[in-house]
Amino acid sequence: MFGLIGHLTSLEHAQSVARELGYPEYADQGLEFWCSAPPQIVDRIKVTSATGQQIEGLYVESCFLPEMLAGSKIKTAIRKILNAMALAQKNDVDITALGGFSSIIFENFNLSQMSSVRNIQLEFNRFTTGNTHTAYIICRQIEEASRKFGIDLAKATVTVCGATGDIGSAVCRWLDARTNIKELLLVARNQERLQELQAQLGRGKVLEIEDALPQSDIIVWVASMAKGMAIDPANLKRPCILIDGGYPKNMSTLVQEEGIHVIDGGIVEHSLDIDWKIMKIVNMTAPARQLFACFAEAMLLEFEGWHTNFSWGRNQISIENMDKIGEVSIKHGFRPLIN
Ligand code: NDP
Repeated sequence: MFGLIGHLTSLEHAQSVARELGYPEYADQGLEFWCSAPPQIVDRIKVTSATGQQIEGLYVESCFLPEMLAGSKIKTAIRKILNAMALAQKNDVDITALGGFSSIIFENFNLSQMSSVRNIQLEFNRFTTGNTHTAYIICRQIEEASRKFGIDLAKATVTVCGATGDIGSAVCRWLDARTNIKELLLVARNQERLQELQAQLGRGKVLEIEDALPQSDIIVWVASMAKGMAIDPANLKRPCILIDGGYPKNMSTLVQEEGIHVIDGGIVEHSLDIDWKIMKIVNMTAPARQLFACFAEAMLLEFEGWHTNFSWGRNQISIENMDKIGEVSIKHGFRPLIN
């Protein structure tokens, strides 16, 4: 069995979901309520592969909210992720994806040092960040969207915002090894890590986001921002492609103007309907078939019987593993979403 650990994007989102699901008493509660709420199994899932194989899984809502990352709630955020992992393990899940901020919190706060949760000893090889499949899907989206919108990669300047992150660094390595892009612009806050990445790649220009945007034909957003930032379309080239892979979204509003193509980054579409209700809650356009690539990674590992932490640690994603997960992604009927 596979598992998915997820969370909602904000307190406001959590309140509206509670209202929608028929829990008005939760809908009026503030952050303190969500801080004390335990993880819940909220969905049981059946997925059929394009090969006909069927698997079952469950969805664990961690009750973590990005607002908890502010100040004194960090311990709460850590507890949420560990408790959700313990719940998945207690339910005999073989491989569970740590969605959205779950894996970021795991890495940032070194949770591998905290493997005891009450009477449960967490077995980390039963969890995956799902980031290898996410990076693979974003790279496919770069290829397919550039073809669709007439951007020649050989003449393109590509910005990766969140370049030093787990997904961002994998995308940079792939762009370097597998494409002939003209220029790679690297954006993040920590300058030391940016210099390190630039040295490893042997290329790339480090820039502030405001300076990178007007030069970019393609912008890949994979920064772990708790809240999206506002983009002024006047600062963007035409045509340009914006691939927003953040959860929550890195861009606070949808930029809809002629020549600006916004893609939901890291999202896949399955070739068959999935028996679940959870993707409706996170506002997917086609909730029976569309999902986060990290969740699809747990499904792929289950389909293939690879019960191992395929994606683990930070900045360890290899192009070989992206190819490997990409091959089984196609085999089981997933494809990158190009809106
Ligand atoms: P990491 O924490 O590994 O990396 C985050 C990167 O963003 C770092 O380079 C960080 O560098 C940078 N960053 C953070 N804040 C800012 C900011 N304000 N401005 C510019 N750069 C910033 O995260 P992941 O690679 O694991 O995940 C990236 C995003 O992808 C997240 O939003 C995550 O939720 C989403 N995601 C989506 C998935 C999907 O299936 N679609 C799956 C998994 C993750 P620095 O701190 O130096 O700024």
